[in-house]
Amino acid sequence: MLMCLAEALLRVPDAETQDRLIRDKIAGRAWESHLGHSQSLFVNASTWALMLTGQVVEIKDTSRWDFDAILRRLAARLGEPVIRQAVVRAVKLLGRHFVLGRTIEEALKEARPFVERGYRFSFDMLGEAAVTRGHAARYLERYREAVRAIAAAWPSRTGSLFERPGISVKLTALHPRFDFVKRREVMVELIPPLTRLCAEARAANLAVTIDAEEAERLDLMLDIFEALGEEDPLQGWEGLGIAVQAYQKRALPVVRWLIDLARRQQRIIPVRLVKGAYWDSEIKRGQELGLSDYPVFTRKLGTDTSYLACARALLAAPEQIFPQFATHNAHTLAAMESFAGTNRKFEFQRLYGMGEALYEFYEDGRAGAGTRIYAPVGSHEDLLAYLVRRLLENGANTSFVNRLANDKAPLEDMIADPVVRLAAVTSKRNPRIAKPQDIFPGRRNSSGLLLSDPATSSRILLAMQRALDGAPATSHPIIGGVERIRLEKPVLDPANRRREVGRASEAVEEDVRAALDIAVAAQLGWDRQGGSARAGILERAADLFEERRALLMGLIVREAGRTVPNALSEVREAVDFLRYYAKEARTHFQGAALLPGITGESNSLALRGRGVFACIAPWNFPLSIFTGQVAGALAAGNAVLAKPAEQTPLIAAAAIRLLHEAGVPGEVLHLVPGDGARIGKIMFADPRLLGVVFTGSTETAALINRSLAARDGPIPALIAETGGLNAMIVDSTALPEQVAKDVMVSAFDSAGQRCSSLRVLFLQEDVATRMLDQILGAMDELKLGDPFALATDIGPIIDEEARGNLAAHAERMTKEGKLLKKLPLTDPLLADGVFFPPHAFAIQTMGELRREVFGPILHVVRFEGDRLDAVCDAINAAGYGLTLGLHSRIDETAEFIRERIRVGNIYVNRNQIGAVVEAQPFGGERLSGTGPKAGGPHYLARFAVERSFTVNSAAAGGNASLLTLDEP
Ligand code: NAD
Repeated sequence: MLMCLAEALLRVPDAETQDRLIRDKIAGRAWESHLGHSQSLFVNASTWALMLTGQVVEIKDTSRWDFDAILRRLAARLGEPVIRQAVVRAVKLLGRHFVLGRTIEEALKEARPFVERGYRFSFDMLGEAAVTRGHAARYLERYREAVRAIAAAWPSRTGSLFERPGISVKLTALHPRFDFVKRREVMVELIPPLTRLCAEARAANLAVTIDAEEAERLDLMLDIFEALGEEDPLQGWEGLGIAVQAYQKRALPVVRWLIDLARRQQRIIPVRLVKGAYWDSEIKRGQELGLSDYPVFTRKLGTDTSYLACARALLAAPEQIFPQFATHNAHTLAAMESFAGTNRKFEFQRLYGMGEALYEFYEDGRAGAGTRIYAPVGSHEDLLAYLVRRLLENGANTSFVNRLANDKAPLEDMIADPVVRLAAVTSKRNPRIAKPQDIFPGRRNSSGLLLSDPATSSRILLAMQRALDGAPATSHPIIGGVERIRLEKPVLDPANRRREVGRASEAVEEDVRAALDIAVAAQLGWDRQGGSARAGILERAADLFEERRALLMGLIVREAGRTVPNALSEVREAVDFLRYYAKEARTHFQGAALLPGITGESNSLALRGRGVFACIAPWNFPLSIFTGQVAGALAAGNAVLAKPAEQTPLIAAAAIRLLHEAGVPGEVLHLVPGDGARIGKIMFADPRLLGVVFTGSTETAALINRSLAARDGPIPALIAETGGLNAMIVDSTALPEQVAKDVMVSAFDSAGQRCSSLRVLFLQEDVATRMLDQILGAMDELKLGDPFALATDIGPIIDEEARGNLAAHAERMTKEGKLLKKLPLTDPLLADGVFFPPHAFAIQTMGELRREVFGPILHVVRFEGDRLDAVCDAINAAGYGLTLGLHSRIDETAEFIRERIRVGNIYVNRNQIGAVVEAQPFGGERLSGTGPKAGGPHYLARFAVERSFTVNSAAAGGNASLLTLDEP
């Protein structure tokens, strides 16, 4: 929070917003005050800054630096402008502590006294990962300038390369899509400029270190590293090094691989061994992906031990590796010294602004190995992300630096051998960090796949292809557990209309009637089984879905044109629905809940199935929504007639077969594929149908509502989840790179064919141009193509009719609005598919859109910072109420919007798609749906009737419980 204020303050353009930010933070919401040592550093800096601004500061108790209190007091006394100045100054001071210079020239000047004392340097150009090609090119230019400047400052080219200065290069800064799935493009596009950069460094006898990135990028990083060493101008060059993170479980294998690579490339590889700076985000990402386990150690002791093991391995290969131990931990340093013995062929590294005392002591008059300072260089806008990392790292409870600053931490603890300590703990993993599978109480999380791991992705792609090549996919009505083959038609792939995915036939009237007859007869028995028995069956189905994941994913990709990651998350969501509703059935549908009441009477309430439900699903989540509806209805004790979308019968049939295989009786669950209006008419007219759960367009929901209202007999329950006209609001405190990334995913993932997709982006006028620059630049990096290919970001539109609607809308917008960007659609391979490229239009008001536009078309509206209320009104006035995205660092703004905007799901500082079952119950209001939310705690109740049961226990023989009551 503390740094959030500083960060936003430095970024926002106008003083008024800055003051709002300050008021907001000072308003007294919980401050995260776990910054420990760094916090006092920050307060110190702020205090200094205040003094510098000419204010007298009176802080009596300097032993407890309470930043919040100080800031609040100062704000009350001095007002926001002073605080603003102070915080900005403080960050600058802090920046000076951790960042060597704003420019490479300044850094080189600052470095001089250290160089005179024998320190070596590796310069790091600060900056966010690039999201556009333009930014990547600018970073490359900065690196090249740095090489030239360093070369000029160290004009003599002589001396051992291992003692010479160097630069550290972040690959994510040099390519806008540095992801494994983009491997081919990255290799082709990144290696030539990187080779040139390295060759320039080589000519100046300067070293280059490839900096560490997230675990998901490790394979790609190693591929690049290997390929670079093979390039002609770099062959045999010993200046090309790489960082290895000890917290990754793959650290030791990576070290071994590097030793082998050095042998193959006949050179020494400098290896910077770090502990790793993104531990928290690796843990979060592991949970998000549903991995079987984390890529990093969950205990700090694990990391410390891994560090020692890697160090030993590195030191044991002096002919292949020049080890560079990056540490501020005295124990680690001592361990390295003792491992190395008389070997001096290694160096230590420390970050600028950290570990000074330790290394002064180490260097002091001893024949230590060399020490290199990793020195960040950058202006104040660029340094914040880095600064936040450093402060968090210093403040972490397990950090050596933090413990050192804490007088109460026992010395023996700090210098204890991590190997001994790890051996002593029974659970080698941290018991407080649940495995990704176990984060939800009472049910297993669906399992994911790390698609950035080449072994995993090639295995799943192969399995998907095999599943598709196996038995031909079919879909026919399944009535009473028996498939009834009717008039068969081919199902064609939307990515290539020449490709037949399978064959399908539709239910005829007789099928629907038979299904209703059988379902009505079977429902009571199913209901009587109780929630627990049904839960067991649904959980078996979930396991089967995971087992047959390859088939389901293959069908989703080919029949619905969804990308591989989309297909994977769909299977996961279906599995989560099954397990979550099973859990709910166990809790709420087994037996009855006792109720309070008068004495002599017992009261209870039970939830039971309503009867027969029709489940009508859309094509855009052909597995997960279809399964979610069916699982909800079944869990509550209903019999089901499942009606999939016309476009996706094959996936539906596969799901129904698995549900039957898991034990759902064929009499209870029927598949009635076919034209919605036709099948609907037969079902809705039958008074035995007691409920409809529908997901699809707002217009169809209205039709269904009318036809149900027109029939006689019992009034059925209708649950409708429908479309949205979803907005994202971005104010001037938002981070442009983050906004660009989240807009890409929100607006264009799944070709914009998600009900939650972003349609209208509201950008605050002050920053709109800068944000748009990033957003439109990021659009250029989106790849349309065959969804089966991992590199594809955007697959096809579901069918020709849908594409026609999009084209008509785009044509209208081109006339009425302003076309900002339209991606070209030139790839001849896409000619046989139903593709529609992403578009972005500028419009004046949201009112120009009359209804949901279901595809990759983004509309951008600019707004004045003081008109947030009008923006909210416009969003509400559109009548829909599904999702909303907000990017802002001001809590008060988030609260304001939360109070005003009438939508079902709000997402702050992230993308607005991909709701997770149980964690983010999903569904809208007004034109977007009736509720209850899918994947939420109130869903199943809507599928149920409530039966209360009252017994007059005093009717025979008096009120025994009262008469036998003890008196206290
Ligand atoms: P759609 O309304 O055309 O069709 C949905 C289902 O209704 C299909 O199975 C279709 O056959 C059936 N149907 C059509 N006419 C019918 C009728 N008269 N009677 C009975 N059934 C009928 O929607 P779609 O194009 O398949 O899906 C896209 C729409 O779904 C978008 O509007 C999207 O926003 C919405 N959607 C909403 C959610 C949500 O959770 N709110 C989720 C996914 C999709």
